Amino acid sequence: MFTLKLDKIPEEGLDLKWEEERASLLTYLEDLSKIDFDFETPLQSEVSIKKVGRSVFITGKVQTTLQLQCVRCLKEFSYPLSTTFELPLHPLKEAPSEEETELGSEEMESSFFEGGEIHLSEIACEQIFLEIPYQPLCQDECKGLCPICGKDLNLSSCKCAKEELISGFSGLKKLKLD
Ligand SMILES: [Zn+2]
Ligand SMILES: [Zn+2]
Repeated sequence: MFTLKLDKIPEEGLDLKWEEERASLLTYLEDLSKIDFDFETPLQSEVSIKKVGRSVFITGKVQTTLQLQCVRCLKEFSYPLSTTFELPLHPLKEAPSEEETELGSEEMESSFFEGGEIHLSEIACEQIFLEIPYQPLCQDECKGLCPICGKDLNLSSCKCAKEELISGFSGLKKLKLD
């Protein structure tokens, strides 16, 4: 885990670039006990950090390739992801001053730090979490699995749907006309 002490940030700000391996990321994710994805490549991060009063303003970019599971066909697939972010960080238990509040707009998400240090790995991971689709699909038009026989309909079709349709029609009765 990559942590930065606030007193290491010079007046003019600090630019950092680092990479984190899957193993170290997974240790962090296990703590959150919500791993429904995996990292296929290391997480690459690039940030600019500036101190404003007691707060910190971070802008940056994170990128990686995740392995997600398709909600329709349950297949694992690669999901390249790259996102930029701006994040004001305020010291916990201290109300931000006016100058510090002006850092971010109302809609901008802000975060807190404690003990004079910023957990950069955590921030990078959080940006990735925000970009993971709620219902991942291997492809927009994924046909999914047949609910009856379980066959992957992307690979081949099955007869289940057809048979159901036919049995539905056979229930119709002809109208008797006088
Ligand atoms: Zn799929
Ligand atoms: Zn089927």
